[in-house]
Amino acid sequence: MVDQEEIERLLQTMSEVWGSEEQANIGLANQVAELNAIVFDGELPCVNVHVAPRSMLSGLFGADRNAAANYNPAYEDHAAYIFVGQSAIMSKDQARIILAHELVHHWEHTVSTDSDPSTYPNEIEMMIKHWFPDFKSEKKWRATHSNRFLAKAYLMSAEHGFELSRLLSGYKPAGALHLLT
Ligand SMILES: [Zn+2]
Repeated sequence: MVDQEEIERLLQTMSEVWGSEEQANIGLANQVAELNAIVFDGELPCVNVHVAPRSMLSGLFGADRNAAANYNPAYEDHAAYIFVGQSAIMSKDQARIILAHELVHHWEHTVSTDSDPSTYPNEIEMMIKHWFPDFKSEKKWRATHSNRFLAKAYLMSAEHGFELSRLLSGYKPAGALHLLT
């Protein structure tokens, strides 16, 4: 069920941070295009991005209604979609890093091959352990973030200056409670 208050909050944030609902959608699409060009050498196939209420953020990669965003691969005649929620559009900088994370999912679904690296520094292991209070939630997150995903994120942080913990979790270290799915 769609919560009308939530929709109004989303519209208000789009207007305050981005200028208008239309500007928000254009801005997000531009960020995706720019990240594709700069980080992925333009290799990614088309993916739509859309601001969405929490109820739409629980797709294939997670049932967490607190998720900041969610990636939905293309299937049958549906295009690939990234849904972004309230916490992802609070600032343009926040949107960019969250889109970068979701685009790694898109890359893994559409472009990634066996020859892409799947090793990464132990620093990432430590980070993940620190985020999760218990093994069960850690296991759940890891199920959708493969070694190749983590290796790609690591390379992106090294080559393009993304803050690694934010690229993986979506949040600054102190607030890494609502992890990206
Ligand atoms: Zn993810």
